[in-house]
Amino acid sequence: MDSFSSPQAHSDDVGLERSLRPKSFNGFIGQPSIIENLGIFIRAARGRSESLDHVLLSGPPGLGKTTIAQIIANEMSSAIKIISGPILTKPGDLAAILTNLAPLDVLFIDEIHRMSPAAEEMLYPAMEDFKIDIIIGEGASAKSIRIDLNQFTVVAATTRLGLLSQPLRERFGIPMRLEFYSVGDLSLIIKRNSRLLSMVIDDDAASEIATRSRGTPRIAVRLLRRVRDFASVEGRDRVSLEVAITALDKLNVDPLGLDAEDKKYMRAIKDLFNGGPVGLDTISAALCESPHTVEEVIEPYLLQCGLIQKTPRGRILVSGGNPPLLTV
Ligand code: ADP
Repeated sequence: MDSFSSPQAHSDDVGLERSLRPKSFNGFIGQPSIIENLGIFIRAARGRSESLDHVLLSGPPGLGKTTIAQIIANEMSSAIKIISGPILTKPGDLAAILTNLAPLDVLFIDEIHRMSPAAEEMLYPAMEDFKIDIIIGEGASAKSIRIDLNQFTVVAATTRLGLLSQPLRERFGIPMRLEFYSVGDLSLIIKRNSRLLSMVIDDDAASEIATRSRGTPRIAVRLLRRVRDFASVEGRDRVSLEVAITALDKLNVDPLGLDAEDKKYMRAIKDLFNGGPVGLDTISAALCESPHTVEEVIEPYLLQCGLIQKTPRGRILVSGGNPPLLTV
C-alpha cells in the first residue's frame, strides 16, 4: 500500500493538516482585504463586549473558510462549535446546539447551503434576536415556547452561494467572498509549512508547487507533503526544483493545476462549440452539470487562469483554449 492509500497515511495527513492550520491572523497568508476588515470588526465587537455580527464565507473548497472561522473564535477569545449543514435535518438538533452556546461563542456551520428548510426557519430568529420558538406537544394541545439564547456569532461557509435563500443571506451582516490565491501567496504558504515540517525547500521549487496548486492552499499543502515523501525516499534533505518537478510529474499533477472537470469543460467548448461563444445553460447541458456547479465550481479557476472569458454572448476559450493543455 502506498502513502496515498494507506489509512495510516490518511489519518497522519488529517492530524498534520490540523497542526499546520494558522491559529491567528498573523499566520494567515493572503486574502488581505478580508483579514483587514475582519480584524477591524473583531476589535470593534470586543471593545463593546458584544458578539461579532454573523459572517458568511463563500468560495471554492480549500481556500481557508474553516481556518478563518477558527481564527475568528481565537481572536474573540471564544469557544467554537463546528457543525455541518447536512446533519442539521431536525430543528430539535439545532435547538439543542443553540441552547448550549455560551455568551459570545462562535457557531461554525459548514456547507450551510445543505441545511434543511426547517432548521433554516429556526435559525432566522436565533440569528436576529437570539431567541428560538420551540413547539411542544401535537395537534390542539401543541404549545409554542420561546427560549432566550446567549449572544453568539454564526460563521457559515458555503461553496455554493447561489443556492442560499435570499432571507438566509440577509441574516449575515458580514458577507465575504474568498478569492483564489496568487502563486506568490501560495509560495509563502508552502515555505511556512516547510518550516513547520522542518524541511528545506528552494524558492523555485516552492513556486513550482504553487503554480500547480489551483490557487488553493489545501492543494498546495497536500502537494508539499507528497513532494516531501518523494524527497525523503530518495534520501534528499532539501527539495530542489528538479526534485519537485519529478515528484509532481509522477503524481500526474497538471502544470497549471487543472483537473479532469476543467479539461472536460474546455474540451466541450472547443470541440462542440468551436471555441465559443456558448451560453451557460447550453454548456451546462452538454456537460450534464447544473449551471450553478459550472458557474461556481468549474469556471472561477479557469477565469482566474485567463483560459476562458465571459462575454455578453457567452463563454469563449482564450486563444483556442491552449491546445497543448487539452491533450494532457
Ligand atoms: P475550506 O474550509 O475553505 O475548505 P480550510 O480552512 O479547511 O478550507 O483550509 C484548507 C487547508 O489549507 C488547511 O489545512 C489550512 O491549513 C490551509 N490554509 C488555508 N488557507 C490558508 C492560509 N491563508 N494560510 C495558510 N494555510 C492555509
